[in-house]
Amino acid sequence: ARLAEILATRIDEYPDFPAPGVLFRDITPLLRDAGAFREIIAHWRAMVPAGVEYVVGTEARGFVLGAPLAYELGAGFIPVRKAGKLPGSPASLRYDLEYGSAEVQIPEGSLPAGARTLVVDDLLATGGTAAATIELTRSFGVELVGASFLIELEGLGGREKLPADVPVTTVWSIP
Ligand code: IMP
Repeated sequence: ARLAEILATRIDEYPDFPAPGVLFRDITPLLRDAGAFREIIAHWRAMVPAGVEYVVGTEARGFVLGAPLAYELGAGFIPVRKAGKLPGSPASLRYDLEYGSAEVQIPEGSLPAGARTLVVDDLLATGGTAAATIELTRSFGVELVGASFLIELEGLGGREKLPADVPVTTVWSIP
């Protein structure tokens, strides 16, 4: 009941942002409520597969949620960044967007082969971001134990765009 109340009252909705027809979910009210933030992370950590060694989180809200989740799980945290922000020779993947393309990167040498790894983001919409993150993460030869999201917009079919062998968990699935 407390979880349902948090989700209903600490995530705001903005119609037509950032484009007409899009209903944007804003998690910043949840983040600034210390008790709600703590409860969400505590609940979430119990939903993910056992023995996670690394959490891979996507810029930018995947950092804010993925880092405390990793800390609670006793796992390391790996940032996935937009191209041009990481030094050295990061692992890189270009993927298609509705218009144009984007590129995501992970610091070189981040993940040892075989490591039990969980991909995390705040929200699963069309699945493009998560699919690219999963492919880039798997290029390290890790054991991908799952992908986990605070919010899933089921109507957008993102889950179907992810590899069928990756277990997906979401704290809040919105039909
Ligand atoms: P997708 O690639 O279409 O699945 O979009 C997911 C990505 O876009 C995630 O990294 C989200 O942070 C971001 N995103 C999409 N819609 C929303 C929203 O309503 N609120 C917050 N982030 C969103």
